[in-house]
Amino acid sequence: MGLLSNKNTGSETNPINYQKAALVNFPGSIEIPNEETIINCIHCGMCLSVCPTYQLTGMEKSSPRGRIRLIKIVAEGNLDLTPNFIDEMDFCLDCQACQTVCPAGVKFGQLVEASRDQIANVGKDPQHFRKRFFFRFIFPSHARLKIIAAMLRLYQKFLQKILRKIGFFHLLPKKLGRMDQLAPKISDKFSDKILKEDMRPKGEIKYRVGFLKGCLMNVMFADINKDTVDVLLENDCEVIMPKNQVCCGSLAAHNGDFKSAKSLAKKNIIAFLAHDLDAIVINSAGCSAFMKEYGELLQDDPEYSDKAKELSAKVKDVHEFLVEIDFKQPKFPVQKKITYHDACHLAHSQQITDEPRRILQAIPGLEIVELNESTMCCGSAGIYNMVRYDDSMKLLKRKVDNIVDTQAEVVIAANPGCAGQIEYGLRNREIDIKVMNPMTLLKMSYGLPPAGETE
Ligand code: SF4
Ligand code: SF4
Repeated sequence: MGLLSNKNTGSETNPINYQKAALVNFPGSIEIPNEETIINCIHCGMCLSVCPTYQLTGMEKSSPRGRIRLIKIVAEGNLDLTPNFIDEMDFCLDCQACQTVCPAGVKFGQLVEASRDQIANVGKDPQHFRKRFFFRFIFPSHARLKIIAAMLRLYQKFLQKILRKIGFFHLLPKKLGRMDQLAPKISDKFSDKILKEDMRPKGEIKYRVGFLKGCLMNVMFADINKDTVDVLLENDCEVIMPKNQVCCGSLAAHNGDFKSAKSLAKKNIIAFLAHDLDAIVINSAGCSAFMKEYGELLQDDPEYSDKAKELSAKVKDVHEFLVEIDFKQPKFPVQKKITYHDACHLAHSQQITDEPRRILQAIPGLEIVELNESTMCCGSAGIYNMVRYDDSMKLLKRKVDNIVDTQAEVVIAANPGCAGQIEYGLRNREIDIKVMNPMTLLKMSYGLPPAGETE
């Protein structure tokens, strides 16, 4: 998340007032690259070896360190938003692997997102109108998203196979064919059809938790939402899924639309804080990472800053929550050889790597093989695989090669974006390895059938 620096904290060490420069050069920008964050980089280069885009090109400008230099020059008003600069900000996956290893604590995500906000607000993003349409018109409305998803479901059921068979997509621009291949299967029933607003466990209620159904999770991964809720119920949680909740806003913010992200955050604050909750549990890494940052996102908003902090303090990734409450031990064996892929927004944004593994290790029968480069981005990165397909596919190939090397029969991905991307990579190469979510395996080991087999 990019944050607005309200004070010129570096004025004694740096003669440039970044905020003033930004306001002159990029009028209308909501976010400005944080001056302290830029200055903190000591150019040590420790981030280079973990940066996927540097790994692809070997070029300094495509590394975190190189990008920080570029952002600094632009922030100082010494470089315009040139096509090269825009391309470098776009090329970055915002995977935040650089943050994990940075000894100076540079929050690179803040910088790149603030730069994207500037690019978007001066209308220089080549995808500007498409992104604005989706982030301001489609994603904020569950109703509109569900209409589009329902149409896509009809297409996938009745037309997709025929059109692919007759080579219809060869007649269209390449991009459309790729989108057809990349789009995950739409769920037969959306999760807000399967789940209720208030769900109670069979026995005594120990915890009262809120549940974010998500925008894409709701229509594309309803089975995983159902499995997650069933696991929470098995762990004595009453699960509240507020009707008036909306998309968390992470996709908008990661693509430089902070106006939309802030508006969505406020709606979720109203929706969730209306209930007396012990925690807000989320099963999509990008969403939990972003909602933990609502407090910073709205820190300058007099009406919402305290409420945003209150909400952020309650947000838990589902693995983190289950480990914290000492989850019920599963006892039914699941005989599978598995490997685990770390989602960037779990591993790098939230430093959650141990908890999913502890849950998997508790499941009897599982043989777990560690994945080489498990924390390296799979190339999904929100809408990255749609807008930078070729770069995304290079990273996906590397991920799939590593998965194949484990000889596992199942790869576990805890984030829906990663699951869809890895599933696409495996399908494309006709590799018979299944992609599953940790909550589905845990539910099976509680002796319950996975939602995909029952709904
Ligand atoms: S690791 Fe951190 S301090 Fe070192 S070059 Fe990268 S961003 Fe800068
Ligand atoms: S966020 Fe990821 S892709 Fe972007 S500079 Fe950091 S490590 Fe590289």
